[in-house]
Amino acid sequence: MPMQESPLPHDAVIIGGSYAGLSAGLQLARARRRVLVIDDGRPRNRFASHAHGVLANDGRPGRDITDDARRQIMAYPTAVIRQGEAVSVERSGRGFSIAMADGATVEGRRVLLAHGVEDAPPAIPGVKERWGQTAIHCPWCHGYEIDRGPIGVLSQGEHTTHYALMVAEWGEPTLFLDPAVQLSAEETRMLGLRGVAIERTPIAALEGAAPLLDGARLADGRFIPLKAIFVGSHVRLGNSFAEHLGCEMTDTPVGRLVKVDPMQQTSQPGVFAAGDLARAASNITYAASDGMTAAHGLFRSLLEEELA
Ligand SMILES: Cc1cc2nc3c(=O)[nH]c(=O)nc-3n(C[C@H](O)[C@H](O)[C@H](O)COP(=O)(O)OP(=O)(O)OC[C@H]3O[C@@H](n4cnc5c(N)ncnc54)[C@H](O)[C@@H]3O)c2cc1C
Repeated sequence: MPMQESPLPHDAVIIGGSYAGLSAGLQLARARRRVLVIDDGRPRNRFASHAHGVLANDGRPGRDITDDARRQIMAYPTAVIRQGEAVSVERSGRGFSIAMADGATVEGRRVLLAHGVEDAPPAIPGVKERWGQTAIHCPWCHGYEIDRGPIGVLSQGEHTTHYALMVAEWGEPTLFLDPAVQLSAEETRMLGLRGVAIERTPIAALEGAAPLLDGARLADGRFIPLKAIFVGSHVRLGNSFAEHLGCEMTDTPVGRLVKVDPMQQTSQPGVFAAGDLARAASNITYAASDGMTAAHGLFRSLLEEELA
């Protein structure tokens, strides 16, 4: 009689247990699938004291939201959450093998990459120590709390004008424009209509008792008072798992991200991706939504294999 192969211990291993990964984990646990979520506790919004714009959680610390989610998932018997860092992912005969920084190896039939991205804000002195507090990337997340007044917008790439037009909703903006950028007559007209002041002298440093901001010191010595500055951040994947597995990537206005189909499946069979690492417009709600979609796609792919 042929030897029966023992089943892999997990139907799905999720790398990254924050908004996207936990949302996927919840769905899979509710489908009574054996799911392992690996997380090393560095969500992208950890620099902000509170999260905003999240239905029923507006103004709560971001960590409280994920702590609640973790508790709820752990109540399901087929879910395991493991604290630790995944260091490599390899395709193995029947699924995937994930090596952990502590030397352990875990295996699963499918893998969901939900490890988020890392921000790469500009290296202007004073930005780093104010990141997520008064140097902000997303007006939807933290614009309302500035409570109007003078705000800055730091030019970062092709969407700068759109960004400056938008943030005029949350204060009186000065757009710090890269001197090399030429505005069209139409852009200049629209910025004028929205009351956006344009400053072409580069910022030398942000000043004030960080994380508070008093204003921007310009390269020519002038000082522009500001309550906050919006900085359109570029991002990078903090892990090379997707590239290593051969997943197709896509260039977006914020950086190179993982390409997925409508069910969050990557170009590689069995590899799913959800959250900020696979979408340019990012927030907690989108990440949770992508996680849910990925779980449903992943579930379907398990089922197809089982029924084949
Ligand atoms: C400063 C700031 C403030 C923000 N504020 C808001 C807000 O108020 N409202 C809002 O809706 N959105 C906000 N956002 C956006 C929001 O944080 C992201 O859209 C959201 O966190 C994306 O969720 P995610 O699950 O894709 O990734 P993340 O939340 O970044 O989670 C990724 C997880 O993967 C883990 N991980 C990474 N690599 C590994 C590895 N190798 N092994 C194990 N674990 C790993 C990390 O530790 C982390 O826990 C903010 C973003 C920033 C930068």
